[in-house]
Amino acid sequence: MNETKTTCPYCGVGCGVIASVNGAQVEIRGDEQHPANYGRLCSKGSALAETVGLEDRLLEPEVDGQATDWNQALDTAAARLEAIIRQHGAEAVALYVSGQLLTEDYYVANKLVKGYLGTANIDTNSRLCMSSAVVGHKRAFGADTVPGCYEDIELADLVVITGSNLAWCHPIVYQRLVAAKQQRPELRVIVIDPRGTATCDIADQHIALKPGTDVALFNGLLNQLAQSGAANPDFVAQHTSQAAQALAAATDYPVDAVAQICGLSILEVQGFYQAFAATEKVVTIFSQGVNQSSSGSDKVNSIINCHLLSGRIGRPGMGPFSITGQPNAMGGREVGGLANMLAAHMNLEDAGHRRLVQGFWDSPLIAEQAGLKAVELFDAIHTGQIKAVWIIATNPVVSLPNAEHVREALEKCELVIVSDILAGTDTVQLGHIKFPATGWAEKDGTVTNSERRISRQRGFLPAPGSARPDWWIICEMAKRLGFKGFDYAGPADIFDEHARLSMLENDGIRDFDIGGLSGLSASEYAAIEPIQWPVRRLAGQLAPPAANCGTARLCATDFYTADRKARFVPVSYRPPVHAPDGEYPFVLNTGRIRDQWHTMTRTGKSARLGGHLPEPFVEIHPRDALLCGIKDQGLARLSTAWGAIVLRVRFSVETPRGSVFVPIHWNDQTASDARVGKLVNPVVDPHSGEPEFKHTPVRVEPFLIEWHAFVLSRRPISTADFSYWARATGDQFLRYELAGRQYPADWSAWGRDLLGGRDSNDDWLDYVDATATLYRGALVREERIEACVFVSPRLDLPSRQWLAGLFAQEQLSELDRISLLVGRPADPSADAGPTVCSCFGVGRNVILRAIGDQQLHTPEAIGRCLKAGTNCGSCVPELRKLIAEAKTAA
Ligand code: SF4
Repeated sequence: MNETKTTCPYCGVGCGVIASVNGAQVEIRGDEQHPANYGRLCSKGSALAETVGLEDRLLEPEVDGQATDWNQALDTAAARLEAIIRQHGAEAVALYVSGQLLTEDYYVANKLVKGYLGTANIDTNSRLCMSSAVVGHKRAFGADTVPGCYEDIELADLVVITGSNLAWCHPIVYQRLVAAKQQRPELRVIVIDPRGTATCDIADQHIALKPGTDVALFNGLLNQLAQSGAANPDFVAQHTSQAAQALAAATDYPVDAVAQICGLSILEVQGFYQAFAATEKVVTIFSQGVNQSSSGSDKVNSIINCHLLSGRIGRPGMGPFSITGQPNAMGGREVGGLANMLAAHMNLEDAGHRRLVQGFWDSPLIAEQAGLKAVELFDAIHTGQIKAVWIIATNPVVSLPNAEHVREALEKCELVIVSDILAGTDTVQLGHIKFPATGWAEKDGTVTNSERRISRQRGFLPAPGSARPDWWIICEMAKRLGFKGFDYAGPADIFDEHARLSMLENDGIRDFDIGGLSGLSASEYAAIEPIQWPVRRLAGQLAPPAANCGTARLCATDFYTADRKARFVPVSYRPPVHAPDGEYPFVLNTGRIRDQWHTMTRTGKSARLGGHLPEPFVEIHPRDALLCGIKDQGLARLSTAWGAIVLRVRFSVETPRGSVFVPIHWNDQTASDARVGKLVNPVVDPHSGEPEFKHTPVRVEPFLIEWHAFVLSRRPISTADFSYWARATGDQFLRYELAGRQYPADWSAWGRDLLGGRDSNDDWLDYVDATATLYRGALVREERIEACVFVSPRLDLPSRQWLAGLFAQEQLSELDRISLLVGRPADPSADAGPTVCSCFGVGRNVILRAIGDQQLHTPEAIGRCLKAGTNCGSCVPELRKLIAEAKTAA
């Protein structure tokens, strides 16, 4: 087997993986030498090999729906762009790019737009997850600097996790914390989150604050630190400014006021404050729950203020720690991928920086003012101000707030160019010109993870069809637009330019400096080991720096403001812009689930990932559900002032009263109506432009249907006639959950039409009870099950896991056929139950039986018995819940 060291393309942990290729066979395992994960991978990373197939790939360029060659596609795109610029100016065009891009792709995209087109209308989907952290860092540190590293989380004595379901969204960082706590049980973990999430599994305290009230909680902490003598006056005096203003703003937040605003008890608030005040080594991890808010930037600064006042920053085991959502959100920030930034962490509003960058690029122009941020950019497309948009490696029709407005904007837009790996995403479908890009397994370049660690991503499969790397496509477009400065031999060339720009007139003035990685030969670039920036160039340096020459920590005593001091930022609590009311009485919270990534365009291909939570759902507290008249596992319609969708209901006592939670992943290819972006309000943080994904007033009501059904089928079926459908990938089949309102005149004919069972050589088994609206049908071809369908007016349909097992059989027995007609397995142990452990495919029923039969009392005992939970560990919180459930039942 050929082995290639590369990096996982999903979350911002940035785990190292080793891809082994033998002909068509691909295997993925964790890279034991990579300092982010030391060999471990989560369920998503472990299933990467299942996502590299070519199904649904965009393999040829297209213009106006016709496949063509690259010359034709690029010439046409450039000519149409030029015509629009000629008529309306450069401000009429925009690029919308992605944290999935490699740094080299990102670098040339930003250079083209800001240095050659002369507009700053380039923004990125990182705006949706991390831009509030960027603002918070820049306001406090003078630069977008992440002070710490993953090791700090292991060295801390208190880890505060706020606005992050770390266990599901950044599983390997969470597993490192779990391991550290196992070794040192005195390491305390406090989780701050309105929801009880899997991350609470290791929490010593869970603070279920009212959604959106974080600034009040941390302002109260700042006040308390000052009053309890936990401040570090020397640090504050020598290395910070504006402390008095921030403390003055925080005096409005005594403990009782905080408890009242946050919906907590005074004891809960005091417990947190005392733990923080009494512990020197504190790390505060924050993520989208903090950032995705109309006051996200202030939330970030309220956290940083507490670390500055206590001086707990930049030293081992302490500091505020922004965990990024995407694999290369950090790389995008380094090259200035946001509309209000310039390359190499320089500032667009700084004339000196603009001169420096323009001189270095030798470019004809340089953008002089910030461009449009994501939400306003699509608004400008809607109004016709932007007439051409080029969308690269992202799916805004699913992921942006007010997503129907985004779809309308693209439908109206004069020119939509898309670069993507897939042919049919909700966004790609709207492209006039489509460029087929290479995917993760085929691409070459670098990415930067949450701890500032640059790692190589290396291709290990050939580019399929006519697909080309994004950097190549962008450079070819630039050349056709008549620009010089885009003649690169490959990503090594681009990286070298990026590294040289970072050290230009730097000398420690700016945080981002990777000059030590400049001047590498192609083979040295190919061999770069994971390394944390800054990597400054040493005098007389000849060889590339070793991995340990990077910088683990920053911001101990030196910052990047004019006076080299950190700045306190006075902040006040502001309630979310839209409050629930009589019409929309609940708060909609959105987020990720354990086994899916973004809009499921890749993880959706994996059967084992699809098995955990196969349907789009809304989580709601059972008492709220009662008030709404909806049942567990029934269907609900969710409506907001911006749109409506239909989802499966899941009762959850961990969802706070008055709130509902909906995952972000489903789209129009995987469900009839489950794009949660349609519901999300387009309100943004005034400083960062980051949307308020965690707080939209919503109404929940029953979605009325007459019958429920599901189909497992080796071939796709038509979903056109169903009131509701959702599709998931199974092992050798597709799974469809369905619901309908119309009764067919003839169930048997309906079943055969649906499953394609009209061939005389097929066996067709079915059972109809028209009075009870029960229907079961199965198509058997050459002794193997081909498809099956089950219909009932109630939610009492048979186990999908039992039926999934039949698809693995080469031949159905007589007993299997009878079981299909009866609608339950002859042997109940054949029903493994819904997947809990994706890595080893272990189902709920199997685990519950083992707990009962073998008296298993710990996740470790379950692991020894069934292997569940022993690979990535992401299902351990669920195993613990099943143990408790079994105990209660007993
Ligand atoms: Fe990939 Fe999982 Fe690591 Fe994130 S934690 S980088 S998804 S393997």
